[in-house]
Amino acid sequence: MKKTFNIKKTVFTLILCFILPILASSCADDQAQNTNEGVPQLETSIRCVAITAQGVRCKNMTKNADGYCHVHRSQAPKK
Ligand SMILES: [Zn+2]
Repeated sequence: MKKTFNIKKTVFTLILCFILPILASSCADDQAQNTNEGVPQLETSIRCVAITAQGVRCKNMTKNADGYCHVHRSQAPKK
């Protein structure tokens, strides 16, 4: 009986280890999308105007009217 209990506990732990990271990553995606809320959107994508940490122009495309992609939203001038 003890063996059966231990196996169930192990399976439960494995499920938690697999499910929780998936849930966490989907939450992160939602937060990334939420950062675009309130930003005027263009009909067509333009290239992000931000300069990356490497000193080169960001290659991401964005529809944000201020020209900053979701990665560089924090660099956008505040109104
Ligand atoms: Zn960018």
